Amino acid sequence: MRFTLVTATIVLMTALGPPLVSLYLARQQGLQIEMERVRGYAEVVVQRSDRAVEQMQEAIDLLIAEGAVDPCSADMLQLMRQLALRGEFMKAAGVVDGNFMPCSSLGLHEPPLNLGQPDTVTAIGTELRLSSPMPLPNDTPYISISRDGFIAMAHRNQAVDIATDIQGAVFATFNPNNGEIRTSIGEANPDWIDRLGDEQEATFVDGSFIVAVMLSDQVGQTGSLAAEPLFHLDERVREISLRWLPFSLLAAGVLTLAFLYAARQQVSMATQIRLGLRRDEFFLEYQPIVDLQTSEWVGAEALLRWRTRDGKLVEPDIFIPVAEESNLINLITSRVLELAAQDMGGFLRDNPVMSLSINLSASDILLPATSEHLLSVIKRFNLRPGQLTVELTERMLVEPEKARVALAAMREQGIRVSIDDFGTGYSSLSYLETMPFDSLKIDRLFVEAIDKEAATSRVVLHLIEMANTLQLDVVAEGVETEKQAAYLRERGVRYAQGWLYSKSIPADIFKATC
Ligand code: C2E
Ligand code: MG
Ligand code: MG
Repeated sequence: MRFTLVTATIVLMTALGPPLVSLYLARQQGLQIEMERVRGYAEVVVQRSDRAVEQMQEAIDLLIAEGAVDPCSADMLQLMRQLALRGEFMKAAGVVDGNFMPCSSLGLHEPPLNLGQPDTVTAIGTELRLSSPMPLPNDTPYISISRDGFIAMAHRNQAVDIATDIQGAVFATFNPNNGEIRTSIGEANPDWIDRLGDEQEATFVDGSFIVAVMLSDQVGQTGSLAAEPLFHLDERVREISLRWLPFSLLAAGVLTLAFLYAARQQVSMATQIRLGLRRDEFFLEYQPIVDLQTSEWVGAEALLRWRTRDGKLVEPDIFIPVAEESNLINLITSRVLELAAQDMGGFLRDNPVMSLSINLSASDILLPATSEHLLSVIKRFNLRPGQLTVELTERMLVEPEKARVALAAMREQGIRVSIDDFGTGYSSLSYLETMPFDSLKIDRLFVEAIDKEAATSRVVLHLIEMANTLQLDVVAEGVETEKQAAYLRERGVRYAQGWLYSKSIPADIFKATC
């Protein structure tokens, strides 16, 4: 049940993961594209506004330069008309007298046209009117600039009147000094301008809009704003997602299949293990444990081997985890104990100084059958206390209270307890102090580091120190060189195991060599 639930969850994750990730990435990419687009529009607005102001200032400069005594003379009116026709943005030029316009590129105005109060007057006396009336049939509002008796006008919406296919887009210009909206198409939210802070430009998502706000390079001249409704982003995301869909579906398919394949392999390996037990495909090899001072063999560790029917040798690192997950490990351990008794029972009885180590798994420790089986071997061969050792790793002690009781009981029966792969777990000294161990095996990772100048090479010293503090025997695993052996010997390590002395060998050879 647990297996199928876990399997179902993982299948769901492998199937949904890639599409969800691609959707997320599509949204990120879409947002980036849309923000860049809106920013582009804000830039266009600010440039158009800047160009319009430039043209109007140039026209006023030209009219002033004429220095005409009568600014409404026929020549001046002619010049104004030319300027108005030439200007891309500027639509009219005129003469201004107070708030009145007596003449313009449209001719003489009788009576003079009342322009109304200026909306803003700059420090150098330039007046800005946001809506100046003009006697034209379509009464489009005009924006005007006037200075030194002349005025130039442009369509009010010229800067923001951009051809766009963005439905619901908002464009606006604003006064950068007080944040007031000058001209706009669509409903511009004045709060958006506040988001600028001290920056020259800002692009962001606000409510249901993507917004870009920007200031003109000409300090204090103008600010622009562009915004588009968020539904454009949704459209963009849909478009990008669709482009990626085949790939994410493919990835999901491949991942799911790979997982299902691995899961099936696992199930079939469990079946193979069961069959292997029935067909007697498992056997033990023995790796000698050596006294570092004398180099004599004082015992062995039993290491399980599996040769399948087709002659393939499967590593314990592969099949032990599968056996543990599929609840076959107790059967395996039981077989290991049978094989060990068969191979070594008599030998141990005849050689009371020799000892044998057996590897246990987590679930073996709490199973009464394990210690019963060990005891029956001890009795059958009349073994001495300390001749059998069980090896377990720190990671196995998931239920420390129960483990402590079980291990203490084994020790009472003369079984030694050794902690395997020491240094690779996470146990603290104070925790280890409370566990009933007799010896510890320093993992070969740390022994390997002795030859190298790596930082891990110093770890081995700490591990030895810890063992001394806990008053435990030390076995160094994976000793491959004379240099490692010498190093360990000098630091008081008593036992070693490794290819320097011997690889794991069949029982017969072990016994014959002893
Ligand atoms: P372990 O208990 O730490 O066993 C030591 C491993 O290091 C063995 O690998 C051994 O062959 C290898 N080794 C020994 N000396 C050297 C050396 O000098 N250099 C190198 N590179 N390696 C060396 P093996 O036999 O493949 O076993 C791997 C692991 O499988 C064992 O690690 C143990 O955790 C597990 N295992 C083996 N037999 C059993 C068993 O009967 N029951 C259980 N539960 N686990 C077992
Ligand atoms: Mg071991
Ligand atoms: Mg080990």
